Amino acid sequence: MIDLRSDTVTKPTREMRQAAYEAEVGDDVYEEDPTVKRLEFTAAEMLGKEAALFVTSGTQGNQIAGLTHCNPGDEVLLEANSHIFLYEGASMSALAGVQPRTIEGIRGAMDPTDVRAAIRSDDIHFPETGLICVENTHNKAGGAVVPLENMQGIYEVAREQGIPVHLDGARLFNASVASGLSVQRFADQADTVQFCLSKGLGAPVGSVIAGSTDFIRKARKWRKRLGGGLRQVGMIAAPGLVALTEMVDRLAEDHDQAKILAEGLGNVKGIEIEGKVETNIILANVEGLNLSAEEFLVQLKQEEVLAVPFGAHTVRFVTNYDVSQGDIREVIERVHHIASRV
Ligand SMILES: *Cc1c(COP(=O)(O)O)cnc(C)c1O
Repeated sequence: MIDLRSDTVTKPTREMRQAAYEAEVGDDVYEEDPTVKRLEFTAAEMLGKEAALFVTSGTQGNQIAGLTHCNPGDEVLLEANSHIFLYEGASMSALAGVQPRTIEGIRGAMDPTDVRAAIRSDDIHFPETGLICVENTHNKAGGAVVPLENMQGIYEVAREQGIPVHLDGARLFNASVASGLSVQRFADQADTVQFCLSKGLGAPVGSVIAGSTDFIRKARKWRKRLGGGLRQVGMIAAPGLVALTEMVDRLAEDHDQAKILAEGLGNVKGIEIEGKVETNIILANVEGLNLSAEEFLVQLKQEEVLAVPFGAHTVRFVTNYDVSQGDIREVIERVHHIASRV
């Protein structure tokens, strides 16, 4: 099987397994795990934030941000196709008691003018705007890099109005590698940041949230309330450190592979690539093959290739560390084979 469903399917490298084996540990609820501390310090430094916190998943990191920034009854501004809005089980509503308000973006980028217009004025009838969320790279937009200038525009509006900005940077390192801008440049345009260690960076578990010392102190309490206070967790923070120190630059390989795959798939009669491929995500429209995404995926699976549906006729492929250049050539060939049959 060639697995292009997500970059989350990567298995930990030998070095990560070794690091887990040898990790120096302690009870992290007592803040005594030196490996976790090292990971949090390293992440905070890379992002240019005062402090960071190791959390179980991206979803937990985003939820902790919502819980820490907002009060129940607040409104949160989100891009209409953002991961938090579409794919986190409405957990900000369920847990933080906030109301989402979506703004349609272009390739994941909300217009700062629209953000400004959506911010509530002081009126007894209105909720208070408690948080603005930005996503980079944007998953549903096909791994689009939200331009730094766009984030700057939104952050300017937010600061004017005294509203915090949270960056859902599950794949922030992809945005950095693709744009040539440091993760800090993007993180500078938000008060708090979440990024995933367990996606393209290849770690088995975990995400990090970062922000001010005061934010992280409150976030630590929310993490505990959510049952995310873990004990000798250096065992899984150690692979995360390997991910941060060894696996960032190689994301460029995933991006190169994605371009090769997109070009190959785009040459298959009946397949159109949707949008520009900037990072490791490819959206392929298979309508021209007279197949739904689901029907196409059944055939693809028969060819021993996995991807996921991302719309009625849209299929998402994600390149990752466990997929070789030879695999990519194979996938293109097998999709040609499917197209010749239908
Ligand atoms: C994957 C993802 C998340 C959630 O991360 P999990 O670790 O799967 O909970 C959040 N935001 C975006 C943009 C993602 O791609």
